[in-house]
Amino acid sequence: MEIKKQIRSTPQVGVKPYSQIHAHSTGNPNSTAQNEADYMIRKDLNSGFYTHVVGNGQVIQTAETNRGAYDVGGSWNYETYAAVELIESHTTRKEFDRDYRLYVDLLRQLAKEAGIPLTLDTKDLAGIKTHMFCTYNQPNNGSDHIDPYPYLNKWGITVDQFSKDLANGFSNKEDSSDSVDKNTKVKDDANMYILDKVFPNGKVESWFIDGEKRSLLTKQDVLDVEYLLKEKGVSKKHIRFSSDNRTLKAIERKKEEYKY
Ligand SMILES: [Zn+2]
Repeated sequence: MEIKKQIRSTPQVGVKPYSQIHAHSTGNPNSTAQNEADYMIRKDLNSGFYTHVVGNGQVIQTAETNRGAYDVGGSWNYETYAAVELIESHTTRKEFDRDYRLYVDLLRQLAKEAGIPLTLDTKDLAGIKTHMFCTYNQPNNGSDHIDPYPYLNKWGITVDQFSKDLANGFSNKEDSSDSVDKNTKVKDDANMYILDKVFPNGKVESWFIDGEKRSLLTKQDVLDVEYLLKEKGVSKKHIRFSSDNRTLKAIERKKEEYKY
C-alpha cells in the first residue's frame, strides 16, 4: 500500500505498548484527504489529532504511529497505536468503495504491524475500536462522537460487515461487500438509523434511533421507518448488534425510550 507522508511531530500520549487502532470518519461532508492533511499541519494539536487520513484513492500519514494520540477524547487516547480517519465527501458508490477498501486494508495493516488483533469493538482492551465504541466504553470519556458508523451505514456497511471485512480483508475479491446496496443514496442524517438487537435465541428486536431517542418498532413500523429513511435519502440498512454488545448497552442507557 502506498502511503504519502506529510508528518507533523506530535506529543507522545501515554506509554508503550499501545493496544488499539482507532477507526474514525471526519464528519466533514466537503473535505478531501489532502484538505484534512493540510489542516493537521496548522491546527491546535490539543484539540485533537490522528495519524492517517484515507480518501480520494490515497492514504496520507499525518503523524507517527506508536505514541498515543488525542483522538478519542478519553483514557483510550493512551492506547492509540494509530488513528485512521475516512473522509465523508464521497459522491459515488465507486469512490466510496475504493476508499472503504483502502481504509479497511490500512486498519488491518496497522494492527498487524502492532501485533494487535483484527477484532472490532470487543470487550478486550486490545483490538480495532471505532470512535463510537470508545465514546461508550472508555474510562473518563469526554467525547460524544459516534463515527464512523453513521457514515459507513449511509453506504450500506453494517457493523457485521465492517467487522467481517476487518477480519478477512479484501484479497482478490472483486467487490467490497455483498451486503452493500448499490443504489443507496446519500444525505446527511447521521443520527437516524434502524438498530437490530439480536438475542442468543435468534430473536431480533428492531429499534429506531432518532438523535437522542430510541423507539421499539413492530414489523409494520419497520417497513414504515424504512420507507421514511428511503424518502430522506438515508440508508435503510440496519445496524446489527448482539444483545450483549457493550456499545448497544451504552446506547440503551443514553438514549431515551419513546413510543413510535
Ligand atoms: Zn472520531
